[in-house]
Amino acid sequence: MNDYDAARIVDLLRASHGYQPVEQPEQADLIIFNTCHIREKAEDKLFSELGRLHKLVQMAHPTLKTSQTLFAVGGCVAQAVGQEIFRRAPFVQLVFGPQTYHRLPTMLDRLAREGGQIVDAEIAPESKFDELPHNQGSGPIGSVTVQEGCNKFCAFCVVPFTRGREWSRPVAAILDEITRLVAQGAVEIQLLGQNVNAYEGLDPSGLHHDLALLIRRVALLPGVERIRFVTSHPADMTDELVEIFADIPQLCPYFHLPIQSGSNRILDRMGRGHTVENYLEWVNKLRQAAPDIAIASDFIVGFPGETEADFQETLDLVETVSFDHAYSFCFSSRPGTQAASLPDQLPAAVSTARLAILQERLNAHQLQRNQNRVGRLEAVLVEGAAKKGSGEWTGRTPGFRKVNFPAAATNLVGQIVPVRITEGLPNSLRGIMEPTFLPVRP
Ligand code: SAM
Ligand code: SF4
Repeated sequence: MNDYDAARIVDLLRASHGYQPVEQPEQADLIIFNTCHIREKAEDKLFSELGRLHKLVQMAHPTLKTSQTLFAVGGCVAQAVGQEIFRRAPFVQLVFGPQTYHRLPTMLDRLAREGGQIVDAEIAPESKFDELPHNQGSGPIGSVTVQEGCNKFCAFCVVPFTRGREWSRPVAAILDEITRLVAQGAVEIQLLGQNVNAYEGLDPSGLHHDLALLIRRVALLPGVERIRFVTSHPADMTDELVEIFADIPQLCPYFHLPIQSGSNRILDRMGRGHTVENYLEWVNKLRQAAPDIAIASDFIVGFPGETEADFQETLDLVETVSFDHAYSFCFSSRPGTQAASLPDQLPAAVSTARLAILQERLNAHQLQRNQNRVGRLEAVLVEGAAKKGSGEWTGRTPGFRKVNFPAAATNLVGQIVPVRITEGLPNSLRGIMEPTFLPVRP
């Protein structure tokens, strides 16, 4: 979602002030950091990168007393920390939140007129989407935010405080954005939301749409060859959302369903609103509807009060499900969240050791499941050249596995090509393109 927001900021500033992206920070008139507040590491990185780039810019213009480059910080750190950014990085002139970036042109005009420093981190009630220019996204994959914010307040998470409450875009605005992206060359559409399966929107006739119905509508748009969506929450699962995997050929067999822990006691303390058993039931239903479906997840280890027995239950769950892919993190205490004030915080060394064990198991499953693809013909949407000069192309299978393959073609970008898988590696597959272009679908 931060990638999506960053791209929209580029569209906006190109239209309002004629800004163009540059290759080197020293060439920039304006440097914007679009930040994430989910874990402490991301926040620390902001301040170190701010210092590094500021120095770089000053060294490039040694004759000027202060650099003419304007530094701005947007996104969730800006939302959460606000004025504090000026204290730690006094050269920053502009701080804005994820719900106010549509007002950037006005903020920049004000700074040009009056100078000084501006903070605009309101969680604006009006829709920023109505005020943004059309999505200028280019390339074979078009991302579209359909839902933002969260009402779930998991004990560890800052999202409800930084992105605000759950909010869904109207159906017509989404379909319009997708139609334009397809006209600009997109073949795959990724629907984005913090809890995308909590989507609840209206079409112009007043008909209520959940995510499953929205996907049915997207699939009817000409030129949409593939559809994906991230990220879903187990408590917002519905049978309709499972059924569409059997019904809609463009829907890619990939489901990212975070569980966080394999212990019901920890899930309860996290305030997740689902149990391990609920979770397994949905995984089984998904695998029945689409036997080839790739299941991905997120895990947090070292949540306050997590015992060895709780952690063992997480490892057991990994063996039961055998995930195709997973993101896993040490618990990071975030200011203002409920978990930050829980008494039984774990020593960092315990969390780090558990994370290493968990990742070893997750990686082993990922490798095994990648190796299971050997011999299969996969429909690969080509995203670009693999590495300069290698003569190889790279793309993704419907199950979101990265595939590298050699081919002499001059340009395959945006094509869905048949690739016979020859090797399963830890993070990708290798293959050989079949000589004939078969009409392949996800
Ligand atoms: N809404 C999705 C859900 O709840 O399933 C996930 C969205 S969240 C922005 C992305 C992931 O970041 C979470 O699934 C969780 O694993 C991780 N995360 C969030 N807060 C965290 C924290 N305080 N410490 C470590 N990881 C965290
Ligand atoms: Fe954060 Fe996801 Fe929980 Fe919402 S549901 S609070 S985004 S982890």
